[in-house]
Amino acid sequence: PGDGAAIVAAVRAAAQALVAEEARLTDLDGRVGDGDLGLNLARGACDVLAGIDAYGSANAASILRFLSATLRKSVGGTSGALYAAGLLRAARELDGIETPAARDWSAALASGTKAIATLGDARLGDRTMLDALLPAAETLAAHVGESGALDAALEAARRGTAATAAIASRRGRSSYLGERAIGTPDPGAEAVLVWLGALRDALA
Ligand code: ADP
Ligand code: MG
Ligand code: MG
Repeated sequence: PGDGAAIVAAVRAAAQALVAEEARLTDLDGRVGDGDLGLNLARGACDVLAGIDAYGSANAASILRFLSATLRKSVGGTSGALYAAGLLRAARELDGIETPAARDWSAALASGTKAIATLGDARLGDRTMLDALLPAAETLAAHVGESGALDAALEAARRGTAATAAIASRRGRSSYLGERAIGTPDPGAEAVLVWLGALRDALA
């Protein structure tokens, strides 16, 4: 979407989905982490919902900067810092673009994902949110401009997330569990599926 109102509607859908999935994400993080992911993301999502209405006529970069600042303040933990950095980098990608096209959003997702990988020093197969984000960004770039590009990106993120259940972790708290994390997908990757799926539905 290009205009502020459409972006705000999509952001609302993503935030509402994270609130709705709080218990499931917290339960997942409880099995392989410290059990706060759903709670942290739901708190961030509520703060986003409380502030987003002021951005109906704002441009995309301002909205992403609002999301970055809000998540940095209210999510906390590893996810808060990583999402804040990724959103800030994505905002920079859209600076000066009044009406971002599909290609611009794809570039923003790719840059934001790269920033998360750099800050977290993680790569594909490390059993993190990047196992959803990297395939999604790559697939979106490959199908950019086609109808169904977001469906393809979501499907790639699903495959990447499912694959995390088979790997022992090297990054984040679940790395302390090693082999014991096997069988449970990475909670951060599952969280990406929640907001990406909501964005896809809102933009369909
Ligand atoms: P914590 O409670 O350990 O501070 P969160 O619960 O906020 O962290 O987030 C946990 C998720 O963060 C993990 O499931 C994983 O997807 C992601 N994560 C952890 N470490 C990294 C990292 N170095 N790079 C990218 N993502 C990471
Ligand atoms: Mg946690
Ligand atoms: Mg924590």
